[in-house]
Amino acid sequence: MAVLPLRYFPDDVLRVKTQPITAFDAELKRLVADMAETMYAEAGIGLAANQVGRSVRLLVMDVPRSNDDKTPNFKAMLNPEIVARDGSQNYEEGCLSFPGIQASVKRALNVTVRYHDPDGQTQEERLTGLDAVCLQHEMDHLDGITFVDYLSPLKRRLLLRDLKRNLIERGLVEEAAL
Ligand code: ZN
Repeated sequence: MAVLPLRYFPDDVLRVKTQPITAFDAELKRLVADMAETMYAEAGIGLAANQVGRSVRLLVMDVPRSNDDKTPNFKAMLNPEIVARDGSQNYEEGCLSFPGIQASVKRALNVTVRYHDPDGQTQEERLTGLDAVCLQHEMDHLDGITFVDYLSPLKRRLLLRDLKRNLIERGLVEEAAL
């Protein structure tokens, strides 16, 4: 397993709609394992494949079950589709591709998701609360959408200015690339 380099805003790969997965092979399982290792190394709760430069419909997530229950809650979803949603919630979201910034986004409270597991079997699951937030955030990535797309132009401009400073200060990108 390996920690993969993250892609940061405004990398073009984050703007492109990803491709369905059709081969459930060893290479795919290695990508799932590498994405899991990357997510844990970066202390994230979710990661989409295009955030590590792979434009395929795959996401991993591990949302803590509660403050007291730290047992693993790992999920890998391939070709995910939301088949039902209801309710609404606001949550202060962050993103590994946007280090150091956060913004409140309104999303469905409950979602039912259908997906393939790494063996190609169809699974269906109902998620609520932060699990549902994380899933919707990662599924947006697979469609080339990021959480700042939901913000007003003014709020987005201010946050992206902070982001640019963070990326340069942390040595994650060259000033010329922004
Ligand atoms: Zn994200």
